[in-house]
Amino acid sequence: MRKKSKQVTPAPGPAIGHIRRAIVAMDLVCAGTVLKRWKLCGRPNCRCAEDPAARHGPYYEWSHRQDGRLRHNLLSAQQAEQMVRAIKNQRQILALLARWSQETARTIIAQKHAK
Ligand SMILES: [Zn+2]
Repeated sequence: MRKKSKQVTPAPGPAIGHIRRAIVAMDLVCAGTVLKRWKLCGRPNCRCAEDPAARHGPYYEWSHRQDGRLRHNLLSAQQAEQMVRAIKNQRQILALLARWSQETARTIIAQKHAK
């Protein structure tokens, strides 16, 4: 067995501290999209058949991939509002992760050149 090498972590810069705090502050995080839609009910004597403004709704539909398949769920207005916030948070986290990755690479490379 080889001796375990001592792990040295370079001190994170202020940019990484900011990114970590921003991620920790997130509450709801989710993938997918939310669509607001109006529907036709199919009854021939309903007003929605003739008048687009009389269509039923709004219905909120959350679409997301699960196990490689696209899935849809109907949400209440309150659930839709929460889901929209969760999706925004997820996008922000992904952007923050990309910056974290760049900052980490910069920190490690800078340390290597300092020696
Ligand atoms: Zn109708």
